[in-house]
Amino acid sequence: MTLSPIEIEKRPVQAYRQLVDGRLGEAASAERFGRQSPAHDMQVGCYPLADVADADMAVSAARVAFDEGPWPRMSAAERSGMLATVADLIAANAEELALIDVLESGKPITQARAELEGAVDLWRYAATRARAIEGTVPAGLGQHMLGLIERVPIGVVAMITPWNFPFVILSQKLPFALAAGCTVVLKPSELTPGSTLRLGELLTEAEMPPGTVNLIVGHGQTVGQRLAEHDDVDMISFTGSTQVGRSVARAAAGNLKKVSLELGGKNPQIVCADADLDAAADAVVFGVFFNAGQCCNSSSRLIVEASVEEQFHKRLVELAERVPFGDPLDPATKIGAIINDAQMDKIETYVAQAISQGASPLCGTRRIDGGPGRFFEPTVMANVTSDMDIARDEVFGPVLSTMRFDGLSEAIAIANDTHYGLSAGIWTGNYDRAVCAARDLRAGTIWVNCWMDGFAEMPFGGMRQSGLGREQGAQAVEEFTELKSVLFHRGERSDRWVPNGHNRNP
Ligand code: NDP
Repeated sequence: MTLSPIEIEKRPVQAYRQLVDGRLGEAASAERFGRQSPAHDMQVGCYPLADVADADMAVSAARVAFDEGPWPRMSAAERSGMLATVADLIAANAEELALIDVLESGKPITQARAELEGAVDLWRYAATRARAIEGTVPAGLGQHMLGLIERVPIGVVAMITPWNFPFVILSQKLPFALAAGCTVVLKPSELTPGSTLRLGELLTEAEMPPGTVNLIVGHGQTVGQRLAEHDDVDMISFTGSTQVGRSVARAAAGNLKKVSLELGGKNPQIVCADADLDAAADAVVFGVFFNAGQCCNSSSRLIVEASVEEQFHKRLVELAERVPFGDPLDPATKIGAIINDAQMDKIETYVAQAISQGASPLCGTRRIDGGPGRFFEPTVMANVTSDMDIARDEVFGPVLSTMRFDGLSEAIAIANDTHYGLSAGIWTGNYDRAVCAARDLRAGTIWVNCWMDGFAEMPFGGMRQSGLGREQGAQAVEEFTELKSVLFHRGERSDRWVPNGHNRNP
């Protein structure tokens, strides 16, 4: 299924259908919209445009499926089996799903393939976790009482996913909610909905019971907002910007639904003079330019020890100028396209503003004009200070801001000087420094002498304004459950509240 840049011109525009109550079809309004490849400026997909009526129908289908349908009632072994079947179907269709993500998002094909591999692993892992949900029994309630602390599915979960990792982010949420026995309505970003809707066909092929998973594509401000505020939704799981996350949390307050948020980051990598500087430079370049910097885990801040700053910058620039970027369909490409014009303008504005505030560009800083698509040069900005916007805000582009430190406590203070707390890392050959940083950096994930290594077994999520809750890991399924206390009494109930023989009016 691999296409060359020329073959893409001959590829028919893919037409997708939404999935509501087990039926693949059109939106209630029968309206459709299209998506152009951000790397090639060619229309690559055509999708049903859902609105509030579709959101209501999807929630109603998920509600009935949860309250009356087979999914929450079947054994964990059956649910696990279904998730494993879906994992196999995804694996069998991985090349097609990867290509859809490439064409809609502009990410490199080799990266998209690796993402699909990771997604299959998440579905397989969730399948094993479905059978590991356990309650507890406290031992000491007395001889007449038996207490069961059960874990039960939370109910109908609405999920809202972004455009930067369409299939992976879906796979960090959906199989775990299903493993718990929940039913789901999911809305992907309208910039990258194709792989999510293709999954709808695979779920149908797997004979997932109707209403268990409902997939609709609409605007965030209509469909997303409706899902967040809907009284029949018991939990909302959102990945995207901190700003929209805040508005989702506000909308969710109406019926006090549970909220889980995976938001932005301004993630630092600290590089000490005693580190393996070659390995560190490669990881810094990877961390910031991966997915063209459009990544919540992007290591967009480098904090480098002053004594090696100059030589480290030199290595970074050499690598930044060598990293292959351009057409995402070329297997050699490491940095693909920027998602849309608004994102290009945002990146350009941050870079220009940083220069006017005193930052020194070491390389990059320009968009590539003259051809189709949206591409921005890998950019390194030195002499950045913590008060500059480029050091504080998520730029979401291939732009590294570098700062210097003299002593580990200063490095940690700079690293923690942010309202985010998603991830952070340190490169050092010194054990004490590594332990100290791992303890004092305030972030949900800390990488020591590595960056962005991830495993289905390791929980992922942010502290502070990077989010609420955790995905992946043994706890991932539990996020979609709540506890129920069940108390049984055995034997005669002799302890009466109203005393025997007592008469109120003697
Ligand atoms: P948003 O946070 O705006 O969008 C993420 C998802 O939320 C999309 O599905 C979007 O739908 C939906 N949404 C938008 N508004 C609402 C709303 N009021 N209620 C419910 N859902 C809503 O991200 P963008 O795509 O606009 O990107 C903007 C910035 O967000 C980026 O520059 C980046 O800084 C950050 N971002 C962070 C991500 C992360 O992984 N942490 C991921 C993506 C973006 P629709 O697409 O229709 O608007």
